[in-house]
This record gives sequence, structure tokens and C-alpha cells, in this order.
Amino acid sequence: MPQTVTPGIERAVPKTRLRWWTELPLIVLVYASYSAGRLLARGDVSTAVDHGLAILRIEKALHLNAEHPLNRLFTREAWLGVPADFWYASLHYLVTPALLIWLFRSRAVRYRAARTWLLTSTFIGLIGFTLLPTCPPRLLSQGHGFVDTMAQYSSYGWWGGEASAPRGLGGMTNQYAAMPSLHVGWALWCGVMLWRYGRTPAAKVAGIAYPLLTTIVVMGTANHYFLDAAAGAAVMGAGLLLTPAMMRLADLAKERLSARSAPVAAASQGAGSSIVSGECQTSPGERIPRQRVSRHGPGAEPGATPADAGTALRQRLAELRGPSVPPKALDARALAALAANPGCSRRALLDGAGVNKAVLADALGSPSAFGQSQFAFMRGNAFEARVKADGGAELLRLVHEKLDPGAEPPTDSLVPDLTAGGPEGRAARTALALREATGAGAWTLLDHPMLALDVAGSPAFLEPDAVVVHPDGSWTVVEIKSFPVLDGSADPAKVGAAARQSAVYVLALEDVAARLDPAPPVRHRVLLVCPKDFSNLPTASAVDIRKQRSVTRRQLTRLTRVEEIADALPEGTCFAPDLPRGELTAAVESVPAAYAPECLAACELAFHCRDHARAEGAVTSLGRSLRAELGGLATVDDVLAAAHGTAGDPDDPAVAALRRAARLRAEALDAAGPTATGPGTGYAGAEGLGAERPEGAPCR
Ligand code: SF4
Repeated sequence: MPQTVTPGIERAVPKTRLRWWTELPLIVLVYASYSAGRLLARGDVSTAVDHGLAILRIEKALHLNAEHPLNRLFTREAWLGVPADFWYASLHYLVTPALLIWLFRSRAVRYRAARTWLLTSTFIGLIGFTLLPTCPPRLLSQGHGFVDTMAQYSSYGWWGGEASAPRGLGGMTNQYAAMPSLHVGWALWCGVMLWRYGRTPAAKVAGIAYPLLTTIVVMGTANHYFLDAAAGAAVMGAGLLLTPAMMRLADLAKERLSARSAPVAAASQGAGSSIVSGECQTSPGERIPRQRVSRHGPGAEPGATPADAGTALRQRLAELRGPSVPPKALDARALAALAANPGCSRRALLDGAGVNKAVLADALGSPSAFGQSQFAFMRGNAFEARVKADGGAELLRLVHEKLDPGAEPPTDSLVPDLTAGGPEGRAARTALALREATGAGAWTLLDHPMLALDVAGSPAFLEPDAVVVHPDGSWTVVEIKSFPVLDGSADPAKVGAAARQSAVYVLALEDVAARLDPAPPVRHRVLLVCPKDFSNLPTASAVDIRKQRSVTRRQLTRLTRVEEIADALPEGTCFAPDLPRGELTAAVESVPAAYAPECLAACELAFHCRDHARAEGAVTSLGRSLRAELGGLATVDDVLAAAHGTAGDPDDPAVAALRRAARLRAEALDAAGPTATGPGTGYAGAEGLGAERPEGAPCR
């Protein structure tokens, strides 16, 4: 079954990759401190005996003294007692570190939380040893009916009569540290790890058997009372609860330490890099990481640092947006559309400045016709929830079936927690989860990850529906759409839009992959999941987005840089939606646009730009293919004048073609007779080309 994330210990994912050469000394140091603390906590023997007897009395009163019959059994049956002694003296020190190493190597994303849980619990145990020194049953006087099986069978192994310590090293351990039993506590931790992260039935069985058998062993060998074992489990529970806080504390300490060394790092970076720090706080409420600075923005003095110039640009963009107008984030849909019209400086600037174009279009009096109905929105959400139900079991099955049938079936998958503060934090968490999942060798579902893509010098944060990491470490984008697939086919326009959107996600994923060594492959076949027919059942298709990816990549790199456009604007230009309409229109018109009919399906300002393009007679409003045919002729009036022969260079192929077309049209109309050229059509013959279009005639 797919695994979801356990609240608590798995929320905090390491912000930086842990290295064995830092982990090993840390664990050795903590264990040495624990052992030293255990020895130092050695209390008075008579007090320890009193505590042991008190525990025994409580157990007897509650009929919990299971250690008595077990110890008698182990003493009588050597075939049970000897293996139990081996178990007690060895597995505690072998299984726990082995599992730590396994987690570190194979389940790296889980390791830090698991290790912190173990260490925190161990220190809580130390508090127990200090406050409650307890004599184990085997050291009570014979009258209490216990036999020290470790001493009885010591000739079979390396241990003596002093707990699990090797013979002759009894002085190195505190034999009165019975409460709580960390043998049981650590075994419980091992059991949870095996159960949660083991992928085979044998691992799951071991996850249950190991702590249970250890509990029986510690009682049967008379090393612990039943209540010691229960306290060991309670200590692990307390450690689990404290783990998130401990990790936050560790993060805080690390941040403080790095903050001390930051000025040095910043100074060395500032000399050679044009990238402003990802944590650079800019205008109030705005934080733009990795802002590239190619030239000084207004307000940045010559000689200012790149950070100053970047801050000046962000302030300039915030001024363009309007005072106290929050920035609108770019999404993949907008980026796909942005890439579809890369020559439009207006859109590049408005998107780069975070202007809400739908609100702007309303304020301009040309509201956009975009948006989903509330019903469609809810239906889409319900469908996505269904596809991702049960830890994404159905979704992963579809990915396996459509894209990777040769891989092992996704019966045991991971769903890492991606929660973090702010888009930068979420993007960093996603990058980390992707890296860890790539090395995990298991199916991993990243539900609504956050990706960052550099667009015209500013980062855009994108949130695909899902990204799946295959067992071979490759990554796949999953798009979940609510338009139906009817009889195996879907609306090609909608599939095309989904493919363009997925291509943007693939590009962003490739940026993440490029930062890893070796870079994992990002698959260029994405999975499109839609409702089947008119039901709510999911059906999926693999969509090859190589073409959309290369077109989008090329067009995004061609986008005019936002700061260059902003620099060319008149002083005081502002797009705040509460400005008077005339002022706002002038501001919008001060930025060059490249309207094309395709804008109607992709940009909120389309109606505004279309009206102005028509009013100006711009040939761009006729469509890109026709625009390309017309060469240097920019307006409809220029085209008509060229066709009439009143303007234009006759050697220009476009002008020559127009004149030839006008002649052919005139000949055709002459041949058709007077009805075709009758009065009132306004389109009679070549002469009529410049006439006013009558009401109801086709739009030019
Ligand atoms: S509608 Fe206007 S702003 Fe939007 S892309 Fe087209 S021309 Fe540019």
C-alpha cells in the first residue's frame, strides 16, 4: 500500500543533505555522552534495590510480574536461555546501528527525523536512570526467585555476570540503570522503522517480532521488570512527540551559526556573481530569490552592488504594480501563454511585475472572458481528489501501466511531506524530496510540489498536480484535467494546452535535475489524467511533449528582459487598478504590444488589445501567418495603399503580391457581372477595397 506521511517525525525534512562524516561523529558523540551520563548517574545501591522491590510489589499487585515465569522458563530451558542471552548481549548494539545506516543510505528523506527521535528518546531515558536508579531482578537477593541467566550461561558467550557488558568490562556499565528499558525502547524504534520503511512482508514481520521478542528476552533474562519495558515504550513515545521541536531547535542553531558566517560568504559572492541572495528581503511583503541583475535599475547608483541594483528593480516593479497592490504569481498556464506570444512586451512586463491582468482588464473596461464556473472548479477538485485517493494508489498504477510497465508495480510507495513556509521554502523542500526520492529506488508521489523557473530574470513558482519519481530515479509530470475523454479521444485544443502547460513543468523540473549530480532524467512523456466519458472514473494517456518543450524553452529564452522594458517607460507609469481609466489606458498603451487573435484564448487583456489594434489598423490583428506574409506593412491602410498602387515599393515581394491579388480580384468581379459589384456592397472591385465595411459584413 502506498505510504502516507506520519505526522510528527516526518514533517521536517532536512534542508541540506546530511553527510556520513558529520553524522558518524554526531552519533558517536551522543552515544558517548549517554554512556558517560549513565555511569555518572550511578546512584546508591540500596536506593536502587528499594526501587526495584517497589516496582516488583506494584507488578504483583496488578498481576503484571511476567518476568517471574519467563525467567523460570529461561533458566530451566537452556535452548531458550542461551539464545536469549545472545539476543540481549548483541542485537541491541547491532540492529539499531544497522538500521540507522540503512535509513541513511536508502531512506535518506526519513533519516534525520528517525535519528532525532532515537537520540531524543535516549536522552530522556538518561533522565530516568538518574532520577530512578533501579536494581534489575537478576541482582535482587535469591529470595525473590530470580536467576541471572547471563551469569548462568556466561560460558557460552563473551558476557560475564554484569549485564550485557563483555566479561571483565562490567565496570564500564551501570547495572542499576534498569528503568526505563532502552533495550525495549530501541527495539520499538527498530520495529517502527522496519514496519514503516521496509518494503517486504519479511521486514514487516520483523518490525513486529523484534520489539516483542526483545521485551520477552529482557524479562526472561531477569534484566528488566515488565514496568521497565513499559517505561521504555513510554520514553520512545515522549521522544517522538519532542522530535519536531528538537529538529526546529537544531535548524535554528544551524541558521544562527550560518548567519554568523554569512557576511563573509556574501562578500565573496558579491564580487563575482550577479545573482542576488535567495533570502534578500525587498519591498514590504515581497521576496524574490535569485533575481538576476544585468544592469542598474533606476535608483541604483553607478557602482552600487548587484544586490542594490536588484532591490532597485524590484522597487520599480512594485511601483508599476501600484502602492500596496500585492503581486500576482505567474502560473504554468500563464507561462505557456506567455511563451505563445514572446514578442509582446506588454504582457512580459505586466506578468514580470506581478500585475493582475484580469483586474486590470476590468479597470480598463474590457473584462476578460476567462475563468471556470464554481461548479467546474468543484468538479475538477473532486476528480483530482479521487485520482489521488489512498496515497495516490490509482495514480501510480496509471503511471506504471502507461509509462513504466517494466518497473516493479507500485505496491509500496512513498508520499513525502512537502509542507514549508512560502513558495521559496516549498520549492526548496520539493527539490530536497526529489533528490531523496531519486536515491530511494521506490515509487514516490510528490503531491502538488512547488517548482521555480527563471522567467525573464524573475522566478516563477509553479505547482504541477503531481510529479512521480520512478524506481529507476526518473521523474514524470502528471497533469490532471477535468475535461472528458469521450470514446478514447479528447478536445485537441485542450490536450494541446495541457501539453504546453506540462512542458513548462518539465522545464522547471529539468532545472532542479541539473543541480543534482548525476542529473536524474526528466521524462518527456507526461501523464494526462482525465475523466472517462461522462463518469468520474480516471483514464490516462501518455503525451509526448518534446515539441512543446523545445518551443517553450526557445521562446522563454527570447523573452524581452523585464528590466529593459521597465527602463523604457515614462517616469511615473503605474498600473494600479484604482487609477482613472484614461490614465490607466495611457499607461497600458505606453508598453508596446503584439496583439494576435491567439491572444483571445490566452491573455486577459485580449479584448482591450484587440480594440486598440483594430483602431490603429494594425495588421497583427489579422493573425500571425498573414502578418508574416505582409513583410514591412504594419497597418491595414498601408496594405490597401500598396494594393491600390498609391504607396509601397513595387519591388517589395509583398507589395507586388498585393497588387497582383487586387488585379485578379477585380478581374474576377468583372467576370461575375454587375450583381457582384452592385451598389451597396461596399466591396465592389479593387476600388472597393478601401471602402467602409458595412454593418453585418464579415470582419476584416
Ligand atoms: S492580449 Fe495584449 S497584452 Fe496580452 S499578449 Fe496579446 S497583445 Fe500582449
